[in-house]
Amino acid sequence: MALVYCQHCRARIDEDEVFCSECERSLVGDDVGWQRFKLRESIYRTERRSDVYTALATVFVTFGLVGGIILGLLSEPVGLLGIALLFLGVGFGTMARRHDRKADGLRKWLRR
Ligand SMILES: [Zn+2]
Repeated sequence: MALVYCQHCRARIDEDEVFCSECERSLVGDDVGWQRFKLRESIYRTERRSDVYTALATVFVTFGLVGGIILGLLSEPVGLLGIALLFLGVGFGTMARRHDRKADGLRKWLRR
């Protein structure tokens, strides 16, 4: 996710932010209909990204656990790969939660 600068207060913000998280001013102009359209678009994108990260987390954690079991039962070195996958899976889970929080933050603007 690229960072840009707010044109009002110069704070660093995500490029798909609709309102600045620092000064709370609109980054897409004053048209309320357009703001809400951009918000819905941004929420949708954020939720889809969260879905992708959740799917990746599920796959990696599953493979990681299988690898861990192989390591535990057979003492095969390939099981170490499972541990690495487990860590990757946890990382993807963290990314998913981050996007969920961001989507929640964006929804707050729609309720105003
Ligand atoms: Zn700002």
